[in-house]
Amino acid sequence: MIKSYVTGFPRIGEQRELKKVLENFWSKKVSVNELNDTAKTLRARHWEYQKKAGIDLISSNDFSLYDLVLDAIITLGAIPARFAKFSGDELYFAMARSADTAVAMEMTKWFNTNYHYIVPELNKTTKFSLNSKKIINEYNEAKAQGIKTKINLIGPITFLALAKTTDDSCAFCHLDEVVARYAELLSEISKLDDEIIVQFDEPIFVTDRGDELVDKITPVYEKLTSAANNVKIVFMTYFEHALKAVNEVVKTKIYGIGLDFVYGEKNKDALEILAKSNVVLFAGVVNGRNIWTSDIDKKVKFVKEIEQKLGGKDFYVGSSCSLLHVPYTLKYENKLSPEIKSWLSFAVEKLNEIHIITALANNKPLCEFTTKIYDENKKSANSRANSPLIHDKEVAKRVENLSKFQRDLSFDERIKIQHKALNYGVLPTTTIGSFPQTSEIRQVRNAYKKGLISKDAYEADIKKYIDDCVKFQEECGLDVLVHGEPERNDMVEYFGEQIKGYAFSENGWVQSYGSRCVKPPLLFGDVSRPKPMTVDWISYAQSKTDKIMKGMLTGPVTILNWSFVRDDKPRAEIAKQLALCIYDEIADLQNAGIKIVQVDEAAFKEGYPLRAENIPSYEKFAVDCFKLSVSSARPETQIHTHMCYSEFNDIIKTIEAMDADVISIETARSGNELLKIFKSVGYKQEVGPGVYDIHSPRVPSVDELVTQIKALLEVLPKEQLWINPDCGLKTRKWEEVKPSLINMTQAVKIVRNS
Ligand code: GLN
Ligand code: ZN
Repeated sequence: MIKSYVTGFPRIGEQRELKKVLENFWSKKVSVNELNDTAKTLRARHWEYQKKAGIDLISSNDFSLYDLVLDAIITLGAIPARFAKFSGDELYFAMARSADTAVAMEMTKWFNTNYHYIVPELNKTTKFSLNSKKIINEYNEAKAQGIKTKINLIGPITFLALAKTTDDSCAFCHLDEVVARYAELLSEISKLDDEIIVQFDEPIFVTDRGDELVDKITPVYEKLTSAANNVKIVFMTYFEHALKAVNEVVKTKIYGIGLDFVYGEKNKDALEILAKSNVVLFAGVVNGRNIWTSDIDKKVKFVKEIEQKLGGKDFYVGSSCSLLHVPYTLKYENKLSPEIKSWLSFAVEKLNEIHIITALANNKPLCEFTTKIYDENKKSANSRANSPLIHDKEVAKRVENLSKFQRDLSFDERIKIQHKALNYGVLPTTTIGSFPQTSEIRQVRNAYKKGLISKDAYEADIKKYIDDCVKFQEECGLDVLVHGEPERNDMVEYFGEQIKGYAFSENGWVQSYGSRCVKPPLLFGDVSRPKPMTVDWISYAQSKTDKIMKGMLTGPVTILNWSFVRDDKPRAEIAKQLALCIYDEIADLQNAGIKIVQVDEAAFKEGYPLRAENIPSYEKFAVDCFKLSVSSARPETQIHTHMCYSEFNDIIKTIEAMDADVISIETARSGNELLKIFKSVGYKQEVGPGVYDIHSPRVPSVDELVTQIKALLEVLPKEQLWINPDCGLKTRKWEEVKPSLINMTQAVKIVRNS
């Protein structure tokens, strides 16, 4: 017998109710009671959706007011000392978002997703104490609703692996203590019902780091499995294969193991081991990270294969990871074309898929409702395979016939030509692209989008912004100017909107952190660029100055990493199509007289795979894709790229291989330490290490900028250095940007003359 489960469910609400109530609570418009009432309503609703869809195993404690790791920190009582004076909701939100003088805890990306978690902060003196209230309450709430849930917790090993220590201690010195608190929790949980399933999320075991931690599985889970007789523990993994962990888990009394068969194909190798063990498989087969309908027939076939390999043992079928990483429901999508909509499946729709796959694999008949969905699913698979909306022969042919993959000359040859053509001196100054996104400029864009103002009025306002922007940059003496990006809402969406093969949902929000959500565009078909995307605005800006105006594009790897991408074609091929859109744009820009083009690859690094074994292929794919996209640039056209991070040690060779003429990076927050890597590998291309941190409103003084530039010059020669802020200025105010850039150009003058 096969049963269904869901790893976890989105909590933001089908219309982002959680976001709204949180923000109202933070701005003191609603009380804590109202906040908690809304949260309760949302939980009830999301359980109801899962129950109605016939999911056998539904989670509690997958809800969170901010973040699940933060919840785990509270559960374990590992509160950093600076928050000692707070309690209750004040404590919770102070840890997440600062309060008084207590600075918020650090936040970072959850594995290779765009979700961010709060990093546990430990030191030698950290004390732990159990706080089980939320967990028990949620279980009882669901039970009152007639649902016996599995309880989701962050596994102790993953918790400590993700923690940072603020002294020289090792997070794992707290392992016994954390396990003891969790054992205490399990014994409390055991009193809630005759038999309860607890899911410990241990995704660290899909990483290389996890492979080094497998020795801890047996001792830790021995203690946890013996903490309470009636609690069954599921060891949950997702995002990649967890083969090493499987070998350990089967030695323990752990009840079940969750494996991702969508992003961890190698997990298939675990089936043989599981067939011989008592551990129950939780097979993640419906993609929890993408938004296309599952091909149900294919999935059923796969589930039957699993069944056969397990030798007929019972197991569970569910989502490949928490559905937190996909939008909530298609219910409110009224503008998408019906055909495109029929290819999509958000969290609520995925529940039906899971149920139907399970039923069909069990050879059970479908009811009227699910039969209809199943029929539609078959139609959708068929229409995706053949729709002219998706398949563009011209595009496919162009990719197939590609013969040029990189620029004609080498960097050494190009840079000489560029220096002659562009004629810039030492320490050229520039910025990263965007200037302050004022509320006026946002309003103008929104009004135009809604049809409230005419095209002429819209364009007049954008031109005015560009005029001011150019004028300011000339006044403060920057060398290479930008237009300021007033026409762009978002660096991916702006391009997506102009690329054929992209669609946009109205309500496809995915939680990024706390109340923040993103709405990734949907790359559903062969992509091409029907007409120039940026040439008009950049040419206009260039016409306003004799200085060099830098063209500004988002790179193909970033566009890909920040979109929901079709799953019916290899990623490398889709990347080539996107690269060609940028290729065409660069060709048009240079024909329009633009001499420098920046191709931003903000998401280049976050696309890195979780396991080292997959890194070479990602790097090849990403480098090839970038190089193809800029290969239309003539030798004298200078290509810049920008990346928003500062750790380059592991990837410096790859960055060099991208073959951009100039790269601007984020160094301001990490001093010039990181530049040393550029020196030690003999990096040849030009580099613009950010000289001040744009993430802070602080205006850097001339003196400190002089010091910073001199520090850079100790590492790299002046011929190789550009001077710029460390990222785009869109989040800053003009009052901050103006003096900062004036000071920056002042500082450069001083250094040049010294
Ligand atoms: N050109 C973009 C900007 O300045 C780059 C932003 C980014 O890389 N995050 O806003
Ligand atoms: Zn940046």
